[in-house]
Amino acid sequence: MSCNVASSELACYFPFLDKSAVYLSRRGLLLDVVLSDKTAVEKAVERLKKSLAREPFNPRRCIDAPEETAAAARLALYVAAATKNQYVLRRFADAESKSFRELLRKIPGIQDPRCKIEIARDLGVDARPAHEVVSGIVVAVYNTPIAVRWTSYLRYAPQDPYWAMINRPVVKGWVVVPIDDFERLLEEAYEDRIFQIVRDNELAVGRVAASVDLSQLDDVFKRYAQRPLQMSQQAVKGGDPPCMKAVLDALKNGENLPHTARFAITTYLLWRGWEVDQIVDLFRTAPDFNEKITRYQVQHIAGQTGGRKQYTVPSCETINSWGLCPTNLGCGVKNPVQYGRRAAIKRSS
Ligand code: SF4
Repeated sequence: MSCNVASSELACYFPFLDKSAVYLSRRGLLLDVVLSDKTAVEKAVERLKKSLAREPFNPRRCIDAPEETAAAARLALYVAAATKNQYVLRRFADAESKSFRELLRKIPGIQDPRCKIEIARDLGVDARPAHEVVSGIVVAVYNTPIAVRWTSYLRYAPQDPYWAMINRPVVKGWVVVPIDDFERLLEEAYEDRIFQIVRDNELAVGRVAASVDLSQLDDVFKRYAQRPLQMSQQAVKGGDPPCMKAVLDALKNGENLPHTARFAITTYLLWRGWEVDQIVDLFRTAPDFNEKITRYQVQHIAGQTGGRKQYTVPSCETINSWGLCPTNLGCGVKNPVQYGRRAAIKRSS
């Protein structure tokens, strides 16, 4: 292995890798054993609360008590799933995957790109050092370029124009990316892994639900309970187009939306007359909600900061190219703002 850290440390930094699960089980830290240890359960609940509060993970714990910390993290995931609150689970997965990326960038013993490629393989991401598949200008221009198989790239690239494959060097089915972008892809893959573990371990989640006193998380439920969307009258009048309805539904379900969807819904709601505060409130259900950043971004789109340019609602073609048009351009309009008017004309004819 090209990673220059002990297996116990690696399991602690990245507890949701397959090799971490194997390591913990070899060390006898199976779910039933951990569940029967009161201190371990307390640590798991503490880990869950800290992740939800977005408290930064202290890597020192992986030197002092790597196995306990790793086992607590895995149990914390089962506890999150046992709450049956999708928002809690999504926020936990989002926080853990962001912490994963931070550690991937910071921990000295794993900075060898080959180590990161091994971690990628554990997550099902097919990757290689770029020089193995391509040479010349691309390798020379990028900082530590990595080649990612196009199928893995498409699966984990964020839905954002920056990540469009058309803007990337692609050689024989390999997409070449700088190391920073590679780490971002792995963050998505790690988040996906967290959900996969829950899907694959329903019985374990049930056992945790039956054993852990979830009432100790009541304060968490209160703070992170899914907030009902406050829909203003303007948004209902005239009917919202399917693309915007889909984004609003995803927000209601606490889903993590791509930047393009956040941008599109913000421009649309501003057009419908929503205030900045109302839109900021709407995003409170997002797992990665940060009030300061969201307010800045909404104000920027509204033209209240920066270049003072208010952005207009993107065209249907653009929305479709972002993968956000559920009708595949089937509404008969060129821009979502025309949808309500067209529906009203249809009703009156
Ligand atoms: S055709 Fe336009 S208005 Fe209709 S769903 Fe697609 S993007 Fe939205």
